[in-house]
Amino acid sequence: MTIGILGGGQLGYMLALAGYPLGLHFRFLDPSPEAPVGRIASRITAQFTDRSALKKFAAGLELVTYEFENVPVETARFLAERVPVLPPPAALEAAQDRLNEKRLFQKLGIATTEFAAVAGREALDGAVRQIGLPAILKSCRMGYDGKGQWILRSTEDVSGAKSELPAANASGARKRKGAEPAREAPFVLERLVPFTRELSVLAVRGRTGETAVYPLVENHHRGGILRLSLAPAPQLDRAIQQAAEDAARRVFDMLQYVGVLAIEFFEHEGRLLANEMAPRVHNSGHWTIEGAVTSQFENHLRAVVGLPLGSTRAIGCSAMLNLIGEVPDSAEVLEVRDAHLHLYGKSARAGRKLGHVTLRASSPEQLASRLAELPTYFHRPEVGLDAALTRSASSRA
Ligand code: AMP
Repeated sequence: MTIGILGGGQLGYMLALAGYPLGLHFRFLDPSPEAPVGRIASRITAQFTDRSALKKFAAGLELVTYEFENVPVETARFLAERVPVLPPPAALEAAQDRLNEKRLFQKLGIATTEFAAVAGREALDGAVRQIGLPAILKSCRMGYDGKGQWILRSTEDVSGAKSELPAANASGARKRKGAEPAREAPFVLERLVPFTRELSVLAVRGRTGETAVYPLVENHHRGGILRLSLAPAPQLDRAIQQAAEDAARRVFDMLQYVGVLAIEFFEHEGRLLANEMAPRVHNSGHWTIEGAVTSQFENHLRAVVGLPLGSTRAIGCSAMLNLIGEVPDSAEVLEVRDAHLHLYGKSARAGRKLGHVTLRASSPEQLASRLAELPTYFHRPEVGLDAALTRSASSRA
């Protein structure tokens, strides 16, 4: 059985590694000849919009899934006419636009930060009056890892952002005859919340509607990029876990979802505010490879193929650290007891996720002592591990 995967980055790489023991084969489509999956699976190098390449890609596949949520929705729909595409293209559509996503959360009764649509430069002042400062302005599309965002604390910041924003009608907001329906707002302004911590939930729904949810994870970002995940999130309140599970199930039911879904939240004043969702396996779920009974990658494949889901139970506690821009010495990492190293085979570049390390332990105390034993690479200020651990402890004090 061959599964097609749109996108050939590290998430696809780890999906394939989890799928081979299940007897699955993979074919990837990615525009980059550098995509790491080229080392382990067959790959078509073509643009997502290249219809003849898409037809060649789809031929003989059991189904198509994706590891990258900015695959054009038209691509997913074109493929869905030929072969099942899971999660459904509607999930891709909802997650690609921050405003759609927030409106979906709102419709489902899932709390979010306060937000306002911003069609362009002229609309920013009105949105700032509505939301107040401090706020964060985000492009609705193609923003990831903190890109396309402006933090607005003062009127000077608002003027600065305005000078960078396009006018509303220059940014595609005007409807043209015969064109795709115009998007209403290319930006969204959100209240900047002084959250206690960031949490994410990974949940999975199978073809029969069966669901399973991993314990919530505590995430630490720096420069908008995930650096550290602690799983399960320390001192997790049962009601918070329940609220996250409810949110995932509402999204599942609404979209008739199949596969792994990630939702990122802020924990603020004892409740969860949904920030965004990803209709795919997620960086904050990498710990599940060694830290849970069944990894997110295996469970995603079990779900889309129609196999029973595996247990999402955590085995002890884990810390996942991303390796960004450069990698540490492998031997020094692996010298730490129960450290697991994953290198994605990508060439080094500043800000690029090149691999990750998962440390597993039987208790939070043991995890803390193993984290302290990690080589100096991890303890440099730019990695932010020690600062994140201090923040994590103080958020619980
Ligand atoms: P995002 O691209 O939405 O994931 O945002 C990147 C990071 O910016 C988040 O992980 C948060 O650390 C921070 N951030 C985003 N939105 C907000 C907000 N409304 N209030 C406070 N911090 C935020």
